[in-house]
Amino acid sequence: MILILESDVDESAGDYAQLLTFLDGMRPDIQHRMHVEQGTEKRLTEVYLIGDTSVLNADSMRTLPCVERVVRVSENYRVLGRHKNDRRPTHFDYQGLRFGQDTLHVFAGLCAVDNRQHVEIMMRALAAAGQPCTRMGAYKPRTNPYSFQGHGKECLPFVFELAGKHGIRVVAMEVTHENHVDEIDEALEASGRPTGVILQIGTRNTQNFELLKRVGHQTRYPVLFKRGFGITLDESLNAAEYLASAGNRHVIFCLRGMKTNLGDPHRNFVDFSHVPAVKALTRMPVCIDPSHSVGSRRVGPDGILDTMHVTAQGIIAGANMVLADFHPAPAKALVDGPQALRLHELEHFLEDIQIAREAFLARQALAKRQSSEA
Ligand code: PEP
Ligand code: MN
Repeated sequence: MILILESDVDESAGDYAQLLTFLDGMRPDIQHRMHVEQGTEKRLTEVYLIGDTSVLNADSMRTLPCVERVVRVSENYRVLGRHKNDRRPTHFDYQGLRFGQDTLHVFAGLCAVDNRQHVEIMMRALAAAGQPCTRMGAYKPRTNPYSFQGHGKECLPFVFELAGKHGIRVVAMEVTHENHVDEIDEALEASGRPTGVILQIGTRNTQNFELLKRVGHQTRYPVLFKRGFGITLDESLNAAEYLASAGNRHVIFCLRGMKTNLGDPHRNFVDFSHVPAVKALTRMPVCIDPSHSVGSRRVGPDGILDTMHVTAQGIIAGANMVLADFHPAPAKALVDGPQALRLHELEHFLEDIQIAREAFLARQALAKRQSSEA
């Protein structure tokens, strides 16, 4: 059960103290956890009651001081899930941008930072295309221990400096160890916070629960959480909930394809048909990663790259974010060069996304019209 308190509740007021006294005095098998979220306009406080809450009467809980609404949660994903009569937000704001189930952002960029020059060329191209977001990997989880592991904290100062110079407001960057969160935070602080970071959890760490608890424990940076490539959707959504249960609900869920030979000839079996499913099960915006799903630059007989085809498929199904590998000189890329799009393809990619987005909005309007006539 979730008690949603009046917004901007006064924590020094007598009725708030009364509510806390009531919660502290509840049955020992029902625990409570406060979740406070500072939005741009309002501060929202939710109280999660954990345990056998079926014995509680929702009507009488609603009469408790400071309580505005009561949501009964019987399903999984308490914080991130979408429950019956649930009007909690399906978006959050970061760096002046809205990330929601109704918005769309493109994060084109380098799979891995290799050198300053490539970072600068990439960011300049994004700025010219009016793009405020990018992806830049500093810490790379590699299958082979002898492969390039990323420049780590050494590259952070120039990545953040160049992001600031080119007006990039958000950089999606994977972390594979809890120390990386501190390294990113320190580098941003040292450079005067010229940009923001969304911390990425890669598919190899989807169920690294200790990492999730640590990343979820901080609320300064939102999280881009990748679906596990060999587990069920339910298992991945439960893993995402670890972030929220530790305190951070600013989570974007990313579909990146599933590992199975059934997906051949693609690197992974593209799972973008799950975009609307994840939006229906949870309040998270949904991202698609066409680069790691397809894993190559195959071109269909229609002249369209498979990467662009699956991107359009995800967008037309309502995706809210696209993570895509680009590289100014793919032959020289240290990671995933063969799947990277070229810079001269950026404009084409963005225009193709726009076509699919407009088609999605038209489909949504059609569905609305049909249901109002029914
Ligand atoms: C990546 O986005 O660079 C990456 C390694 O992705 P994934 O975790 O989905 O393999
Ligand atoms: Mn990659």
